[in-house]
Amino acid sequence: MHILLTNDDGIYAPGLRALRQELRSLGRVTVVAPATEQSAVGHSITLLTPLLVQPVEDADGSALGWAVEGKPADCVKLALVELLDETPDLIVSGINAGSNVGINVLYSGTVAAAIEGAFFGITSVAISLEYRDPVHLDFAEAARCARRLIVQLLEKYRGSGRLFNINIPSLDAGPPKGVRVVPQGIVRYREQFQRRTDPRGRVYFWSMPELVPLQTTSDTDVTALAEGYITITPLHFDLTDYRHLETLQRDFSTPGDR
Ligand code: MN
Repeated sequence: MHILLTNDDGIYAPGLRALRQELRSLGRVTVVAPATEQSAVGHSITLLTPLLVQPVEDADGSALGWAVEGKPADCVKLALVELLDETPDLIVSGINAGSNVGINVLYSGTVAAAIEGAFFGITSVAISLEYRDPVHLDFAEAARCARRLIVQLLEKYRGSGRLFNINIPSLDAGPPKGVRVVPQGIVRYREQFQRRTDPRGRVYFWSMPELVPLQTTSDTDVTALAEGYITITPLHFDLTDYRHLETLQRDFSTPGDR
């Protein structure tokens, strides 16, 4: 099996290294990842600057893959179209430092890379580890969890082209309580910015969004992760709102169509 591994924290991020270590027991792993951190770039792609590519070696001198001066989605495109010698059986993105649940899924570069893989019809998995300041992130243990889940998913969904978003709870409070398959939450963030002044007197802002306290009892990736469960959410990039498609088609149908 050939696995393409990418992320949005950059090719030198510890989460990617830990996951690579584990995935190597499943097959050949090729890394194509951003040269620098690209968190929260969503599904951006690079059109106005060149996508510089640099081969990267592991500490032992073996080929690790390529560092790309681009976004996570660029990395997957470039890997599939130009860099890899064959189509991979699986694309894995992560392990991200910090969870990607709720509406954050739509800002996430980690998830965007997996979505890009699904565009190509390849089974793709995004993996994120919850971060609770100021606790150390146990990527080694999270990578072991991730490998077990990927093995389980592959048993059924290898070659399916399906897309999965996995979040692992912060491991400082002990092992995860279990695995829950849950829908994506739609909890709003309280958007706020810290206003500051730079040494030259210019005003600048830091984005400091905060989760609005949960007022819902519905079971989502946000709530299950907060309760200490690993969450798996099947995703799809078709954003059509099928609940309203027919109504809208009726609203705009011409008399002759009836
Ligand atoms: Mn990130």
